[in-house]
Amino acid sequence: MQEVLDEQQFGPVTVLYGDRRGKYPHGNSLIVRGRDRSLVIDPSLGLVARGAPSPRVDGVLHSHCHEDHFAGSFLYPDVPWLFHEADLPGIRSLDALMDLYGYPEPIRAAWSKAVVEQFHFTPRADAIAFEDGDVFDLGAVRIRVLHAPGHTRGHSLFHVEPDDVLYLGDIDLSSFGPYYGDAWSDLDDFERTLAMARGIDARYYATFHHIGVIEGKAPYLERLDRFAAVIADRERRLLEYLSEPRTLDDIAAHRFVYRPQDQVLFADGVERRSMALHIARLARDGRVRELEPGLYRAAG
Ligand SMILES: [Zn+2]
Repeated sequence: MQEVLDEQQFGPVTVLYGDRRGKYPHGNSLIVRGRDRSLVIDPSLGLVARGAPSPRVDGVLHSHCHEDHFAGSFLYPDVPWLFHEADLPGIRSLDALMDLYGYPEPIRAAWSKAVVEQFHFTPRADAIAFEDGDVFDLGAVRIRVLHAPGHTRGHSLFHVEPDDVLYLGDIDLSSFGPYYGDAWSDLDDFERTLAMARGIDARYYATFHHIGVIEGKAPYLERLDRFAAVIADRERRLLEYLSEPRTLDDIAAHRFVYRPQDQVLFADGVERRSMALHIARLARDGRVRELEPGLYRAAG
């Protein structure tokens, strides 16, 4: 497998592309260099694969606490690691991280092993919290935090100023669409975040995964709207499927997030939690009825 990490420069920001342009489990990491200090954002497996001495930085900034986003953080044991306060518990222990995902046994045990062995999970009890609106001043270059929950509770965007690069983390603009399948995910929060992200003006929009960097707001909005539309599409397909009474087991087996042929270790749990979020709000709006405990049908 090719593991070459190519780079691209946007003012003070260097994008280090992961394998296959950062397709999962790889990702694209950013180095932001100011006059006085520099930070790395979301060190990926691409940084690990590179093998060469890692770029020197004064801190590690994480968009959220997920395995692919901290996979290279262990390369920086001597500098502070920063997370949004809502995701901070996830880096403090493996158990807390597993609670963030929320996969049931036996997947939890298998996934614990994978995040340690494949993604180099290293607990950091002294990781530091940031919050919405915080600004990291690197000397003539600033990074502003925008809390953007939904994917996880603490998921955040970073706006690099004055060069106007918006880092989108896992609002990855892919055809897969928004991921809200963890215990710490929330569909309504994700939709509010997408509406907020729609209003952000920047010159460059950088994603962690394979879409990479987009220049200009019009192409960004086109991608963002297609990405957001996946939510409505899942909901439409769910309502169609609920023309007959179905249980959550039926719904998970039918697959609305992954394709039936996708071999994903945790697919069942993700389908279950994602679609339970849709059912909860459709029930709240009177569009789905619970006929008896655990059995659902579309209303009307
Ligand atoms: Zn993620």
